[in-house]
Amino acid sequence: MNGAVMTAPFTQFLASVPLPFWEGGQGDRFTTVLRRLQDSPHFLEIVYRAVYRMLYPFRRWLNPGSRAERIFILLERLSKIPLFDCRMCGQCILHDTGMTCPMTCPKNLRNGPCGGVRSNGHCEIIPDMPCVWVQAWERSKRMPEYGKEILHIQAPLNNSLKDTSAWINDFHLLQKMTPVGWDE
Ligand code: SF4
Repeated sequence: MNGAVMTAPFTQFLASVPLPFWEGGQGDRFTTVLRRLQDSPHFLEIVYRAVYRMLYPFRRWLNPGSRAERIFILLERLSKIPLFDCRMCGQCILHDTGMTCPMTCPKNLRNGPCGGVRSNGHCEIIPDMPCVWVQAWERSKRMPEYGKEILHIQAPLNNSLKDTSAWINDFHLLQKMTPVGWDE
């Protein structure tokens, strides 16, 4: 059975749990400070590479639908939501996008900006918000290791992986699992 299906009730429960520490008051300030880290993309790519190398030898125990996945989902929610405003898509491409989450684009675009970017580099839907893809492009230029990956063409998002662990999906190549009917 698909691991994503097996964990669905639990992950739906996790997704419904509020994270009060950073939702409102002190938490908002904490989140604002933490999100400034996105302007240090080289530091973040070093951290990403280090975590990947640390976890890789254990990948045979990190299976979709396992208890380990439940822990990973919780850890990803606790770390990536405050840091990247992560939407738990389950198919993380942060290192391909200047450590900037493409799911925060109001149109959820994963292959570059739409045609509506304003002359000041802001979003056409939310004028106060810098375009996610302008930020991704600028940040990727400061990533010597993964920066060129911004030129990769991303497959359509597979919504069946939402609220699962992106790390575990990555180790099992589920990251590359495209929606039914899509040919590369
Ligand atoms: S790409 Fe997906 S998993 Fe990665 S930070 Fe964005 S929503 Fe989260």
